[in-house]
Amino acid sequence: TEEMLRKSDKLSVLGQLAAGVAHEVRNPLTSIKGFLQLLQSKAKDHYEYYDIMLSEIDRINSIVSEFMVLAKPQVIDMVPTSITGLLHHVISLIETQAILMNVQIYFKAHEDLPLVSCVDSQLKQVFINLLKNAIEAMPDGGNVYISIKTEDDELVVSFKDEGCGIPFEKLPSLGEPFFTTKEKGTGLGLMVCYKIIEDHGGRIQVKSEPGKGSTFKVALPVTLPRLGG
Ligand code: ADP
Ligand code: MG
Repeated sequence: TEEMLRKSDKLSVLGQLAAGVAHEVRNPLTSIKGFLQLLQSKAKDHYEYYDIMLSEIDRINSIVSEFMVLAKPQVIDMVPTSITGLLHHVISLIETQAILMNVQIYFKAHEDLPLVSCVDSQLKQVFINLLKNAIEAMPDGGNVYISIKTEDDELVVSFKDEGCGIPFEKLPSLGEPFFTTKEKGTGLGLMVCYKIIEDHGGRIQVKSEPGKGSTFKVALPVTLPRLGG
């Protein structure tokens, strides 16, 4: 647990710093990109170099965007939220991409689930990252099953895919910054997920069978109704 503590200390310092720096880095990048596009439109040769520079700028932008969500939420930002509603929204955002990849997303909505205190934009980010990973794990298509249930005082959202799975010895590396097995991956998606869920008092559990698929379970404490409120 000493190792775990040190890891979470590092993450919170990293989070505070990263969110501030990331914001400052995006502005100059935007202006560099604008001028590059201008130069490219007037370029007589080396046209393809501009494309490379522009796509590298996009890459820096996406790395920096992942960091921006790391700022720890303040109690004041936490709002009791319907996770079912939030998931419907996230699925609608990602559905086109899923269909293009031949992936079908199944989500059985339940009525009467308790609310969860959260920063909804942050939880959306977590669900988007997990769904993207599920889709990317199935290059030939497949199904993703999302379900929600209550367990004791927690709401448990599970994302089950039929993808490549994760080798047992790689499981401890999940959530480490820059751990990726993808050619174009940032290796920051899961780090962001773990950090956000930890800030919300929850946890993420992974089960995986190489060649068969993976299940990511997100457990979040439910908001208890206030007495006399
Ligand atoms: P990225 O997606 O940019 O690689 P992530 O932090 O989101 O970074 O994921 C890190 C790594 O964890 C991935 O490169 C992949 O090897 C593994 N991984 C995450 N989710 C899944 C999944 N659903 N199925 C298989 N492997 C996964
Ligand atoms: Mg990812």
